[in-house]
Amino acid sequence: MTIYLYANWKMNFTQDEADQFGSALTKGVGDLPEHIEVILFPGNALLTTVSESIRNSNHLGLGAQNIHWERDGAFTGETSVGMLPDVCTHVLVGHSERRRYFGETEAIINRKIVTVMERGLKAVLCVGAGEGSISNVHAEEVLEVQLRGALRDIEGPVEKGLVVAYEPVWAIGSDLPATPEVANRRAGFIKRFISRLDNVGTGESTPVIYGGSVTSENVGSYLDMENIDGVLLGGASLNLESFKQVVTVTENY
Ligand code: PEP
Repeated sequence: MTIYLYANWKMNFTQDEADQFGSALTKGVGDLPEHIEVILFPGNALLTTVSESIRNSNHLGLGAQNIHWERDGAFTGETSVGMLPDVCTHVLVGHSERRRYFGETEAIINRKIVTVMERGLKAVLCVGAGEGSISNVHAEEVLEVQLRGALRDIEGPVEKGLVVAYEPVWAIGSDLPATPEVANRRAGFIKRFISRLDNVGTGESTPVIYGGSVTSENVGSYLDMENIDGVLLGGASLNLESFKQVVTVTENY
């Protein structure tokens, strides 16, 4: 079973810093078991630099944090899916920071996922409720709305094209991670919900990863969980030593 280790660098690092980090990680990570998929998500302006710095690694892959849903057009400052370097295989869609600061709606997120999948790339759909949504019922209602909206215009099996990241907003960058049990319950809910969407046509096999204040100390407790297939890291992926430690822990799974 594949374990997904995704690193969202957000708006961090200069060209030099990203280059050094990518090179150091290439040397530091060494050989990894085949079943571990490590993908770095640098800012879009850093993609080419990082693709160069990790080119000698057999284990590190590259993804974008965001794209526009149109293939081209008058959208100043935006990045189209066709502009991504060829080595880029993944795109984050619907991260809570994009929803919150850039007004991304379910409709926009849906269009982006369609664009990503049509291009043959893997969409990493981020879902999770915000403040005051720790209660089960509310959190699951929010997940239902987000999943139904995001996957609305998808037709056919998404098995190869989709990973869902369960990221409760209150857990992101807060040092207040969801407990492994809660994250596991939500991941199971997501898998079951997607399996019931007629248009998506997949079993309960959609990979679901957990994100929100994951560290090298707690990563193992999530990987131990039945429904959790990996983690999405923010802060812990910005420090070389902590990231390498997360990778080391993951190698034991
Ligand atoms: C994120 O922003 O996707 C994230 C998981 O951040 P952090 O690990 O810092 O909570």
